[in-house]
Amino acid sequence: MDFARLIREVPDFPKPGIRFKDFSPLLADGEAFAGAVAAMAAPWHGSGLRVVVGIEARGFILGAAVARELGVGFVPVRKPGKLPGAVHEVSYALEYGQDRLQVQADAVPAGASVLLVDDVLATGGTLAAAASLVDGIGARLAGAAVLVELAALGGRGRWRRSEPLLATLSY
Ligand code: IMP
Repeated sequence: MDFARLIREVPDFPKPGIRFKDFSPLLADGEAFAGAVAAMAAPWHGSGLRVVVGIEARGFILGAAVARELGVGFVPVRKPGKLPGAVHEVSYALEYGQDRLQVQADAVPAGASVLLVDDVLATGGTLAAAASLVDGIGARLAGAAVLVELAALGGRGRWRRSEPLLATLSY
């Protein structure tokens, strides 16, 4: 299944100089969506995962689908102010300024094995921050899976961890 052809590049979005990888056409095609989700999930079958943790917002779409593919649960990592109850939070640097991510403190049983899922690995800050959130709630990170890695942006270099970071497509 050649789902890569359904990812289009949009120049100067959301800001001048950014070449945005838009995979909306892939999601809208049932066969391509299924193929992409199956490819992301394939390395993780039988690996003892308890949940997939998906990062807001496109990580929810892929993460929930990967979780169903693997027959495990789903936990959202969200922007601040969206999750009720006790939350764990991490701040991380953006190109300009800072952002924060949160997860519910009791989302995952202690020691449970977790797979992180997001759509795109760009500079790597988001995925590294989400990994430290998983550490912070006492879960055990098994690894991370992204659909697209933008290799030129060097995000893999910010993944200073021993757990595997797997990209289905690399540009
Ligand atoms: P990073 O923290 O720089 O690695 O950026 C990753 C986050 O930004 C992911 O959650 C993506 O959703 C988003 N992102 C960055 N570049 C793109 C892109 O080209 N297409 C879609 N999302 C992107």
